[in-house]
Amino acid sequence: MLATDKIRADFPIFKRQINGHPLIYLDNAATSQKPQVVINALVDFYQNHNANVHRGIHTLGDEATQLYQAARANLARFIGASDPNEIVFVRNTTEAINLVAFSWGLAHLKPDDEIIVTELEHHSNLLPWQRLCRQTGAKLLHLPLDNNGDLAFSYLKSLVGQRVKLVAFSHVSNVLGTIIDIQHLARDLKHSAPHVCLLADGAQSTPHLPIHVKDLHVDFFCFSGHKMLGPMGIGVLWAKKAILETMEPFLVGGGMISQVKPDSAEWADLPDRFEAGTPNVAGAIGLSVASDYLQQHGLQNIRDHEQDLTTYALQRFVEMEKQGLVTLYGLRDPNKRAAIFTFNLTGVHAHDVAQILDRECGIAVRSGHHCNQPLMEKLDVPATVRASFYLYNTRDEIDALINGLHLVRKVFKLT
Ligand code: PLP
Repeated sequence: MLATDKIRADFPIFKRQINGHPLIYLDNAATSQKPQVVINALVDFYQNHNANVHRGIHTLGDEATQLYQAARANLARFIGASDPNEIVFVRNTTEAINLVAFSWGLAHLKPDDEIIVTELEHHSNLLPWQRLCRQTGAKLLHLPLDNNGDLAFSYLKSLVGQRVKLVAFSHVSNVLGTIIDIQHLARDLKHSAPHVCLLADGAQSTPHLPIHVKDLHVDFFCFSGHKMLGPMGIGVLWAKKAILETMEPFLVGGGMISQVKPDSAEWADLPDRFEAGTPNVAGAIGLSVASDYLQQHGLQNIRDHEQDLTTYALQRFVEMEKQGLVTLYGLRDPNKRAAIFTFNLTGVHAHDVAQILDRECGIAVRSGHHCNQPLMEKLDVPATVRASFYLYNTRDEIDALINGLHLVRKVFKLT
């Protein structure tokens, strides 16, 4: 079990009061809080090592380059990649997926080819494919949810024909918390349709589950640093070296060439050719330190802790649901879902719930469509409330959330 008291002491933000209450932060699917070691790493870089990478032949330039490349190697180990050169630093998951759509997609998709996405996708794993289809004349197919809120995998096999070139899916849904068994899914797909390329959006899985990209049988995997205790503005695209080597750069300019002539240019080796311009060096170092912090506590321990929170939260939500006070969306099996709870309080708009929880209890939750409007339409709601948990959250905070929801009902004179 995790020592949450000790962990919380590592995060300076938990000293804050919000509207007169100790902060209860349940918006981790949007972004996570940062431990002092990550904040220190950013300060240390700017205070002691700041210089541009790959460029100056001076001590600081060397130090910055070494720290940046060490961060890359460390993150490769963190996700079980075989080669640090398979790690491309990007701003976030959104940029990683756009990079794949531009660099791989435009070269591989033709009119009447097909891309499959699922009904769970965040807009970041939907809009790049919509645009790619408009650009190439390819078609976008949607794998639906079944009546239990799980993906209709049996239907997937019937969708995957010779025209399908790519299947892109979330590892963990940011709305319903559903964990997709990508290892099984990808292995089956690679067996039955080896021509299909697979992309997994790991924005909501990498912070919470042990990840070993080689075991996932996917071709592309991406994640954002800020959701896993790291800084904002840094993320990773991982792909097999053999695939990256065939891809054109997404952005062109400084830092990504081997030779430039007035009318032509040759690209640098991997991964530099995908990192045009000055990169977020401090961000990469901070993300590497965040990954060390997560590993120190153990990703499996974090998953076990969150599974315990999930089991308890499900129990508390179901009590309220039986009384008709809330509607909870998503699967009920804690083995199949992450600690993300999307719900509506009967008779109160999601935005009002979030505002009152913040004002009256210091509880931060998300409300809205969570960058997944098609799923909101499917659920037939304009918005939901989302409470999402991480390694520093506790059962007491779940109780505080449930008490907060009863308070919201009182404010709205529903009791
Ligand atoms: N994919 C999923 C499943 C997400 O939850 C998010 C963010 O919430 C993203 C992609 C986009 O992440 P970012 O905003 O860091 O690019």
